[in-house]
Amino acid sequence: MAETMDVLVTNIGQLLTMASSGPKAGKEMQTLEVIEGAVLGIKDGKVAFTGTAEEAYGLTASETIDCGGKLVTPGLVDPHTHAVFGGSREHEMALKQQGVPYLDILKQGGGILSTVEATRAASEEELVRKSSFYLDRMLSLGTTTAEVKSGYGLDVQTELKQLYVTKTLQDKHPVDLVSTFLGAHAIPKSHKDHPDVFLEEMAGMLQQVKDEKLAEYVDIFTETGVFTVEQSEKYLKKAKEYGFGLKIHADEIDPLGGTEMAAGLGAVSADHLVGSTDEGIRKMAESGTVAVLLPGTTFYLGKHTYARARKMIEEGVIVSLATDFNPGSSPTENLQLIMTIAALQLKMSPEEIWNAVTVNAAHAIGRTEQAGQLKEGRNADIVIWDAANYKYIPYHYGVNHVNTVLKNGKVVYQRREIIG
Ligand SMILES: [Zn+2]
Repeated sequence: MAETMDVLVTNIGQLLTMASSGPKAGKEMQTLEVIEGAVLGIKDGKVAFTGTAEEAYGLTASETIDCGGKLVTPGLVDPHTHAVFGGSREHEMALKQQGVPYLDILKQGGGILSTVEATRAASEEELVRKSSFYLDRMLSLGTTTAEVKSGYGLDVQTELKQLYVTKTLQDKHPVDLVSTFLGAHAIPKSHKDHPDVFLEEMAGMLQQVKDEKLAEYVDIFTETGVFTVEQSEKYLKKAKEYGFGLKIHADEIDPLGGTEMAAGLGAVSADHLVGSTDEGIRKMAESGTVAVLLPGTTFYLGKHTYARARKMIEEGVIVSLATDFNPGSSPTENLQLIMTIAALQLKMSPEEIWNAVTVNAAHAIGRTEQAGQLKEGRNADIVIWDAANYKYIPYHYGVNHVNTVLKNGKVVYQRREIIG
């Protein structure tokens, strides 16, 4: 072999290629594609070679990165975030500790409605700057592709502003972003008694969002006190007619039947699923709808009942994991921490977890052909970890194990050495 690469990543202790034929469902999630003593070749920003050092014999490149025996994996994929928002809500932590119910915080102008106020008040430039900072942090933590939802505008003007912010970031930030329109995130104060009128207003935006390519997916919050299953179904059917992929915040608290509805509509994913019924789980397995689990939210809300990941895996569901990064119920960009919570609370094995944050997560946001795997033709989105094997990452918790991140074959982050 005498092929020339742009970059050769050599001396890889353990390479997770995740090079399966597609997303993994149920028990398939226990398998991982691993090459020990590997080399990875990059050409034109894409993965062009993976194999053992022996197989790489004769390969040359203008640049070599020696991994010194470290673990190398695909860039992490975070398939559920709310990374564009105004303000922050640290003052609510003390109220929660005092046992003030969320609904009372909401009445005092706190909760999601305070984020809506702050997002409305912020300029587009301010939001771009703020979200860029969060995306920088995501990248430093190993996330190279993420989904971002709107939903803190709850009026036409601000929802559009949020979507434009995401569009700007898609052009200028190295993290690849997949945009979701979540105008139906909550009922704004102005429409407290008229949720149907509000949903019609949001549905009225679909044409423009489609024409201007501002989002690929449409999402809705189906929950007690927010939107009913019937309202959600009607809204999502409209979105489907416009050609959007569907996502749904389903059964986070009560088993309303959002899981079943998502499966019935052929949604690409249903997210949260803490209250999903056995029937809902079986239907997801049948329809191939991805279960995007958000255990960081359960943890941060101080709850003790987590989504039933084991049951879902047993029934053959495609399970994924995400941060749900948002200023209220999950203020973290750190998918590594979510991997630990998944191990401890969802009882997922390291193999299942790695599939959940790479190949399955990419599938949940329609990026199967670009992200989540290291095989020929995929984006060279690569993380070199300060660890010798993949089991180490969920085990040693709460810190950043990333050594180096490459996006499309270029180094975009490198851990700093301590000086002095
Ligand atoms: Zn969410």
